[in-house]
Amino acid sequence: MKKYDAVVIGGGNGGLVAAIRLLQGGAKTLLVEKHNIPGGFATSFRRGRFEFEASLHELNDFGTADNAGDVRVLFDELGVTDKVEWLQIPEAYRVIAREEKIDATMPFGKQAFIDKMESYVPGSRKSMEKFFALAEEIRDAQAYSNSVNGKTDQKVMLDKYANFVKCGSYSVNEVLDAIKMPKKTKDILNAYWCYLGAHCDDLSFLHYASMVLRYVTKGAAMPKSRSHEISLAMVERIRELGGDVWFNTEAVKIITGKDGGVEGVVLKNGEEIKTRHVIANCSPHIVYGRMIDNVDERIIKETNARKFAGRGFTMFLGLNKSADELGIENHNYFLYDTMDTVKQYDLMKKIESNSVQATVCLNRAYPDCSPAGTCMMYFTTLYMTDDWANVKPEDYFKVKDFVANKMIERFEQDTGCNIRDSIEEISVATPMTYARYCGHPEGGIYGYESQYWDGLMPRLLMMAEDHKTRGLRFAGGFSMRLSGYSSAYFSGDITGRQTVGDIKREG
Ligand SMILES: Cc1cc2nc3c(=O)[nH]c(=O)nc-3n(C[C@H](O)[C@H](O)[C@H](O)COP(=O)(O)OP(=O)(O)OC[C@H]3O[C@@H](n4cnc5c(N)ncnc54)[C@H](O)[C@@H]3O)c2cc1C
Repeated sequence: MKKYDAVVIGGGNGGLVAAIRLLQGGAKTLLVEKHNIPGGFATSFRRGRFEFEASLHELNDFGTADNAGDVRVLFDELGVTDKVEWLQIPEAYRVIAREEKIDATMPFGKQAFIDKMESYVPGSRKSMEKFFALAEEIRDAQAYSNSVNGKTDQKVMLDKYANFVKCGSYSVNEVLDAIKMPKKTKDILNAYWCYLGAHCDDLSFLHYASMVLRYVTKGAAMPKSRSHEISLAMVERIRELGGDVWFNTEAVKIITGKDGGVEGVVLKNGEEIKTRHVIANCSPHIVYGRMIDNVDERIIKETNARKFAGRGFTMFLGLNKSADELGIENHNYFLYDTMDTVKQYDLMKKIESNSVQATVCLNRAYPDCSPAGTCMMYFTTLYMTDDWANVKPEDYFKVKDFVANKMIERFEQDTGCNIRDSIEEISVATPMTYARYCGHPEGGIYGYESQYWDGLMPRLLMMAEDHKTRGLRFAGGFSMRLSGYSSAYFSGDITGRQTVGDIKREG
């Protein structure tokens, strides 16, 4: 029987980073990935003349060499930054909302962002400055908390980060109302909400403010050869460090011993790997529901209490005209019916009523990403319930066409561009595609929803209590940092290092 200090199940963003951290900590590590390529959602695929990005709109918190974000710092430590060719995204976003008749394009850079907001909403400057001051204090408090491994001193917190403590249990809308932000300013500022998949009455202000601050001050990046380039760079790094990566290898069972702790992993071909440490890059629902026998009832109840975040739908278009010819001006569009995020969230529960889209034209960041005279776009939406489960198999293609058609129509109406006549390639991924590809329940692409009781702060605070099975930890979109690229990378960093600590403690 082969023996490893640790086995990582899944080669998505969280699993890849966890494996590098394990190896850097001296652990003999095996990563198993059920597909023949790494990355999970972080990959690309070809249709005709186009290589489509499968998921990444923009990598938050990466920054540049002289204004590094936390993800770049992490990648430097992992030894992967220089293995990837990076591009900067030109502007933050363009948000178009029908009900409020908003059409705003926001730049990167704190001052530029505040100035542009003032031009759209005269009189907004003061509340925007307050917002950024709060967001900066939140980041400083988080940095302090990380520096003491979460064991914060209450006096330091109250003396230096009182506003962080004050905002701790409030939602985005509650805090923005408290600082008297004008409604239109709030509407424009809240455009990123769909990236976190929870509406602004539920979404923690701490989480949102810290994310917006990083986007605005560090800008956003993209690898030239799509996110697949990052995933390949990580596999190369794992192998340089002496780790094993087995593709086409699905883990089907985690063997537990008398103490309930990890003793090994069973692969789909029946092979057993001996290990006392597993990092699972899949959801606790799958791990506790299918991969471990005799799970404690409390764990099952706790797992079932969580709510799945948005289920994904993406349409990819290869167009036989350039972005200039088609009049596509921006890299990143958010198209909403309304900026009332609670109302919008409700509309996103049903296939029939969901018309939201987050749309990217990669050529605006990287003109040569497709052949000369062409451009490519991807359109993503989220479903806030499992409505796709109500689609009968015989209606599946019809419903796919219905949504794809609606997305094209909506983009054309809201931006005035005619894209339909120039479609050369079209490909559509539904929640079924995502469920099959990464194995996530209901085709979720954002892990567990950031609810009031289950947001970033409660998860970080509960990290120790959440570690219920000896030798088993989770990395990726379903774990303590919530979902998204940066979050999945950070969770891999945390669990990788924690597992190294566990191994060292065991001796
Ligand atoms: C269309 C789309 C757009 C997105 N846009 C953005 C964006 O712009 N910015 C952003 O930050 N985030 C975005 N996201 C979210 C982001 O892609 C995810 O949060 C992130 O990639 C999740 O990483 P993960 O570590 O959870 O791994 P996953 O990508 O979920 O991968 C898990 C891996 O584990 C493997 N696996 C699972 N079970 C097993 C098993 N039993 N044995 C072996 N292997 C197994 C799977 O095959 C898969 O490779 C987007 C996602 C999608 C789908």
